Amino acid sequence: MASPLSVFYNKDFLNHDTGPGHPERPDRLKACIEALENCDFADQLVWKSPRSATEEELRWIHTAQHIKQIEQVCESGGGYLDADTPVCPKSYDIAKKSAGAWLDGVNEVLNGNSTLILSRPPGHHAERSRAMGFCLFSNASLAATYALKQNIINKVCIFDWDVHHGNGTQDIVQNNPDIYYVSIHQFPFYPGTGSHIETGEHGNVLNIPLPAGVGSVDYRNKFDEVVIPFIQKSTSDMLIVSAGFDAHRRDPLAGFNLETEDFAYMTRKLQIIHPNLLIGLEGGYNMQALGEGCESVAGVLVADTKGIATE
Ligand SMILES: [Zn+2]
Repeated sequence: MASPLSVFYNKDFLNHDTGPGHPERPDRLKACIEALENCDFADQLVWKSPRSATEEELRWIHTAQHIKQIEQVCESGGGYLDADTPVCPKSYDIAKKSAGAWLDGVNEVLNGNSTLILSRPPGHHAERSRAMGFCLFSNASLAATYALKQNIINKVCIFDWDVHHGNGTQDIVQNNPDIYYVSIHQFPFYPGTGSHIETGEHGNVLNIPLPAGVGSVDYRNKFDEVVIPFIQKSTSDMLIVSAGFDAHRRDPLAGFNLETEDFAYMTRKLQIIHPNLLIGLEGGYNMQALGEGCESVAGVLVADTKGIATE
């Protein structure tokens, strides 16, 4: 039986201009939207326009100086926050909306639904006090913090399947005993963090570094044998997925060899532990892999398999 799926998106996300030739470009979201608008369950998707995160909310996880710097660079016409991270005049407001989409997604999950967040800029490389790696604000850790502040749930887990380590998410949550972070990523690779000895202040961080060339079988084994038990042991009440699609074999930036079906496989397995998932877009730089990846994940979320073990 199918159930409607809320997808948070706004065309403003296309106006975060990173300049010609930049891999984190508006076409990425267009590929996701086009795939979902033309898929065979398109009538099950409920498109919702998100709110913006407030500065007060951003200050929960970022320094005031970090927020101010981004605002000022944008106000002065744009520029580079780091070597990889250009912004245009509109990027500050768009990044607040990108973060807000993840907060609206939290409310969906707290109301008993799964949700898909298609926003940009992405967030998992943004640290407490610095933007980097195409990321301005830490969308996933803001969502986790927001979820806990509603005083409905006690623990949140973030699973990061983007091919890069989410150094920013880890930086922000590693001292918080109520937020767990688990990441599978290519290593050694950008951004350089994410070795297995980084475990968080409370054992709340688990890094699974894998070498370039890893394919579906080895990846699924690590997912089944290490990620799933960690999430179960966390006794978390909510699961947030930092979903990049750059571990796909087609991705031009990275060296993993996942197939589209691997993302659906993980979504199905995660759904068994947490029937309502927040899945939010991080990286992914091949348009076909992005479109197919979003469609396969959304297809799992639309299929009403709550509480039913599926393979
Ligand atoms: Zn990535």
